[in-house]
Amino acid sequence: MKQFLITGASTGIGESCALYLAEKGHMVWAGVRRLEDGERLARQAKGLLHPVLLDVTDSESIARAAQTIRGQAPRLDGLVNNAGIAVAGPLEFLPLEELRRQFEVNVIGQVAVIQAFLSLLREGRGRIVNMSSISGRIAAPLFGPYSASKFALEAISDSLRRELRGWGIGVSVIEPGNIQTPIWGKGVSRGRQLLEKLPPEAKALYGRAIEGQIRYVESVDGKGLPPIEVARAVEHALTAPRPRTRYVVGREAKIGM
Ligand code: NDP
Repeated sequence: MKQFLITGASTGIGESCALYLAEKGHMVWAGVRRLEDGERLARQAKGLLHPVLLDVTDSESIARAAQTIRGQAPRLDGLVNNAGIAVAGPLEFLPLEELRRQFEVNVIGQVAVIQAFLSLLREGRGRIVNMSSISGRIAAPLFGPYSASKFALEAISDSLRRELRGWGIGVSVIEPGNIQTPIWGKGVSRGRQLLEKLPPEAKALYGRAIEGQIRYVESVDGKGLPPIEVARAVEHALTAPRPRTRYVVGREAKIGM
């Protein structure tokens, strides 16, 4: 039985991956930030699923999770770096704290988790799967912070693949387009908060564009692919004899490639 760790498993793509992999007969360590999310997942899982508390921005939380898993598993066959947030807004008025938070979760958090689990992955000659996005290839206006974080994750994945080749550890990236998950709703509410906080001159400059972007996001919300489509790509990356370097999931993701 293969053993996989998935970060950000409480909702959306991470939840779908965790449940799908457990259903396929793998042992899943599901990283969540709240115990109740883990308990719910464990009840839902058709198979072996162990919740583990894991906040990718908290080094103590990462160390505790690594200790817990190391105490019970001799190796890891795969790590899915899925946890992520989406910060949007015009760069001119973006509070730098927001930009730091974006990178803290989507980039530094992923590297910190990789560092903590690499020894267990070496034991299993495991695979690393990083959840990028179409935004890791194309940067849209007002999505600068999110896109920058995903471009960075793409670069880190490419470096890491070459660095770890000698150890037999593979690295794949997943590039989904629009997937039905709560991330869009969270983005819209953050966009509204940002609009309210903008100084009047910024509202005049960017207000219409932000409102347009919010309307666009609302119009596509719920119309994307179901997260199971991403889970299938993740399973291929983790288990296929010849995994791909990149997996494009969703129609929009093919645009501009
Ligand atoms: P969700 O908002 O549903 O899921 C995000 C997950 O990340 C949640 O489990 C959340 O946990 C977790 N998370 C956030 N911050 C942290 C943290 N500091 N430490 C640990 N976990 C954290 O969105 P998606 O399922 O859509 O997103 C999953 C990944 O897929 C992201 O990396 C996203 O960028 C990517 N993606 C999504 C697309 C889409 O259309 N939905 C398209 C392309 C890529 P909590 O519940 O505790 O906040």
